[in-house]
Amino acid sequence: MKTILVQPYGYCFGVRRAQRIALEAAKTEPVYCLGSLVHNELAIRELAAQGVRTIQENGPDLAPLLELAPKGSLILFSAHGHDKALESQAHDLGLRYLDATCPYVQANIEFGLRWKGSIAYIGTKGHAEAEAFCRNVHPLAFFDAKSGELVYAHEGSLQGVIAQTTLDTEDIDLGLKAIEEKYGPVRLLAGRCPATEQRQAAVEAALQVADCLIVLGSKTSSNSRRLLTLAKKKGKAGYLVLDLAELRRLDLSSFSTVALCSGASTSNEEVERCYAYLSSDSTRP
Ligand code: SF4
Repeated sequence: MKTILVQPYGYCFGVRRAQRIALEAAKTEPVYCLGSLVHNELAIRELAAQGVRTIQENGPDLAPLLELAPKGSLILFSAHGHDKALESQAHDLGLRYLDATCPYVQANIEFGLRWKGSIAYIGTKGHAEAEAFCRNVHPLAFFDAKSGELVYAHEGSLQGVIAQTTLDTEDIDLGLKAIEEKYGPVRLLAGRCPATEQRQAAVEAALQVADCLIVLGSKTSSNSRRLLTLAKKKGKAGYLVLDLAELRRLDLSSFSTVALCSGASTSNEEVERCYAYLSSDSTRP
């Protein structure tokens, strides 16, 4: 069996940056992250071992999590973005905060705020990034990439659309079509980040030759799930596995070429461990 290692792989720029901010602060005191800093159980465990604790989200609203942070403690807003109003609420509760919002996520929010006129959003309902965008920008319409439906579309006129950074082009096109049917011609102002664009393009290229795609990532990771759907859309076999232990359980004996890729919240080391396993004889019966 031949194995293609799809590049780039491992943590994206935004995840690396968020981890750096968290770990630097955790050298001197515990850091409490509101929701998952990284959508990956292995990474969360490693962060916890170094003093970055997760106050686990229970739904899209981060406000109740503020109450769970110890008084006077240092909290961290994750790379996914957050409702800006939470910053003053944190201050009122006697908390200090660090902001690890990815600059690409922040750029989309700022684009939405600067846009003169109404705006629509294409994203995954309930995802932290989509939630942060909506709470800051208040779009007139929301197309949910998961259900494939406009989940709300208030009356009015709009010309601008922004999409979540981790979607694929097909979902964005579906969203644009649904929005244009209701509001007329619109312009996509901002959307996928470079990390998402590069990974999706590289996976599509690998699928030209591979008959199976293995995505290393968590089931909670939106960008990992999107990579998996690229295989399904091409009628190829695809698996989403968290780590080498899960990979070892797959029966890959019927495939001639396997493409190995990773979501943006998977460590380089885990990808390299899995690549070494796939490239060895141990996958053969
Ligand atoms: S996937 Fe893109 S937007 Fe999200 S954290 Fe990584 S670089 Fe930032």
